[in-house]
Amino acid sequence: MDNRNTEIKRSNFIKDIIDDDLKTGKYGGRVHTRFPPEPNGFLHVGHAMSITLNFSLAEEYGGKCNLRFDDTNPTKEEDLYVQSIIDNVKWLGFDWEDRLFFASDYFEQFYEYAVQLIKKGKAYVCDLTADEIREYRGTLTKPGINSPYRERSADENLDLFERMKNGEFSDGARTLRARIDMSSSNLNMRDPIMYRILHATHHNTGDKWCIYPLYDWAHGLEDSIEGITHSICTLEFEDHRPLYDWFLDELDIYHPQQIEFARLNLNYTITSKRKLLELVNGGHVSGWDDPRMPTLSGMRRRGYTPNAIRKFSTAVGVAKRNKIAEIDLLEYYVREDLNKNAERRMAVLDPLKVIITNYPDDKVEDLEAINNPEDETAGKRKIPFTKELFIERSDFIDDPPKKFFRLAPGREVRLRYAYFITCNDVIKNDKGEIIELHCTYDPLTRGGSAPDGRKVRGTIHWVSAKESIKAEVRLYDRLFSHPNPAGDKDGRDFKEFLNPESLIIKRNCYIEPSLKDVNPEDKFQFERIGYFCVDIDSSTSGNLIFNRTATLRDTWAKIKNSSKS
Ligand code: ATP
Ligand code: MG
Repeated sequence: MDNRNTEIKRSNFIKDIIDDDLKTGKYGGRVHTRFPPEPNGFLHVGHAMSITLNFSLAEEYGGKCNLRFDDTNPTKEEDLYVQSIIDNVKWLGFDWEDRLFFASDYFEQFYEYAVQLIKKGKAYVCDLTADEIREYRGTLTKPGINSPYRERSADENLDLFERMKNGEFSDGARTLRARIDMSSSNLNMRDPIMYRILHATHHNTGDKWCIYPLYDWAHGLEDSIEGITHSICTLEFEDHRPLYDWFLDELDIYHPQQIEFARLNLNYTITSKRKLLELVNGGHVSGWDDPRMPTLSGMRRRGYTPNAIRKFSTAVGVAKRNKIAEIDLLEYYVREDLNKNAERRMAVLDPLKVIITNYPDDKVEDLEAINNPEDETAGKRKIPFTKELFIERSDFIDDPPKKFFRLAPGREVRLRYAYFITCNDVIKNDKGEIIELHCTYDPLTRGGSAPDGRKVRGTIHWVSAKESIKAEVRLYDRLFSHPNPAGDKDGRDFKEFLNPESLIIKRNCYIEPSLKDVNPEDKFQFERIGYFCVDIDSSTSGNLIFNRTATLRDTWAKIKNSSKS
């Protein structure tokens, strides 16, 4: 087992509740959680936190965690989403064993439970329209008004409900409602709708049903059927808990405990499936798995690792108040993981040709480079050195400022893992643009140090012009330029805050030849540039494509240090 780092060591209020329940034997010592996504979009970083929380709690207490699709709404749900969610949870490193469930598999059971409530006089068929129901419902300051259909007899309700199921009525013509209290201070308790009529094809049950249960009715039943002990959900369901409890109590069936925690929000991005779908449909991104998306598929394609995402999810912790986490913290864990595990390579993204005038024309010399200074077992590799090289354009300045220690006319620098070189001539074209540098190398400095002890201030990366491979590099940055794009900004749409520079494509990059046989998702640090991941498109485009996962600049560590001083 790898070092999973998912253990929620710090105590938190959810663990306190579980600890108490274990002490009192409330659930016979069992801990059984679930992750219950609705398959109406791809999972995002907020879901990652919920997944990590639920599966880690189960792991830590020696319990179980189910993966359950809360697929009660046929109009927005698709198999594509089901598959992506299964893949994502697996990729994140969690295992539901044989406990993959669909709420839609329980539709028959839900129906029977509804019949029980009708027989008890606790549910009724209502003929009010959606608008009328809203009107009758009242407001926070105004009590609701009883539906004129509230006093129907159980027999009449049973008959109408069965006919609803049999498809005798059109969409929206009738509903089944719980009979609770129209003057309750909690609006959720004012005779909430349990079933609506919807003649729609369901991704799992096809055309078998034309009545569909609403979330509040279905969710507690799903938890109860599966023997969940702690049903963890986000804060917006706090006001729904009395209803969750009411249904289970009225049916007198096994009763899990609902516990709410604050949703995870992340700055510079959005965590709402609806808004993410808007970005996909509007062509603002290339798809749900665009590497700029905060989706698990997007983060995966970007090069984020499951380990980093789990660590981040654990680090932000569970809270009772909504807050916005820093994307810098997520990137910190990504860098920490990649620093340990990604091999180093050299790549030049913005090439400037260097000719070593005193180097033999056709010679190819293999120099040795360390794959990962953080991991000895990663070993070494060979990089070819030749007369013509590429260096990064930004590593040369014709007329350098005082503090510039890289290459300049008359300056000597170290080529990483190679030699000291000195720049003698700067070749320009008619327009005055630098097209080539003529340098000499010192053969005695092989490996990067001089026998006479002379020092150079700068070390730059390079690749052989002849032996390197051309590649495309996609430089990704934050999707939004505003820290809180979804926040209300005088009614401005969140899409107005999209960062126009979130993707810069460089098609003329050169990478060292050891990268020839890489596979999609392989991850590297390009020395001095950043972390990069081989894009999935590489396998179809006949061209190597690398996505920038992160720069090397660790803003989180900087923030931490500056707040200390
Ligand atoms: P969205 O608002 O993005 O559509 P949702 O809550 O409707 O999210 P579900 O598929 O219903 O999405 O969520 C599955 C589980 O993930 C639920 O238990 C939900 O509470 C949890 N979850 C969703 N978003 C977040 C978030 N931002 N932070 C933590 N947990 C979340
Ligand atoms: Mg939802």
